[in-house]
Amino acid sequence: MIEGQCQCKSIRFSLRSIPFECCYCHCSICRKLSGSNFGTYGTVPKDDFKWLQGEGLISNFNQNENLQRSFCSVCGSFIKSVHKLDPANVFISIGCIDTTIDDLKIEYQQFIESKAPWHRLDPEIKSHKKWPKWALERAKRNAQSGN
Ligand SMILES: [Zn+2]
Ligand SMILES: [Zn+2]
Repeated sequence: MIEGQCQCKSIRFSLRSIPFECCYCHCSICRKLSGSNFGTYGTVPKDDFKWLQGEGLISNFNQNENLQRSFCSVCGSFIKSVHKLDPANVFISIGCIDTTIDDLKIEYQQFIESKAPWHRLDPEIKSHKKWPKWALERAKRNAQSGN
């Protein structure tokens, strides 16, 4: 079992599988959310994510009608997002994970045109100007199927 927690340890969660499609997001929103150069996320199937502690202390922010982000209301750690166009999955801020996962690998970086001017992109990580095409196509398929 993979476990993680927020910075103040009020909130703990577990993952039953290793996050996949791990990425850096350089968009301006993720830079604000992380207070840093980029957000770092991984995907897990919804049923593989579980709150272990502190669920009542979670603060939810609706970024827009499709996207909801969850934070620790005590320390502000950004823990996960859910997206209506990808309801089968949750998106974890993988910096909150405490378990060492040897197989976790950053597969791509997105929104590179919005990157912080002082940040140097890692040339060994595949770059996308916005979202990867397959992510957009998956969202489109889910929208059409009414999920
Ligand atoms: Zn906290
Ligand atoms: Zn982003």
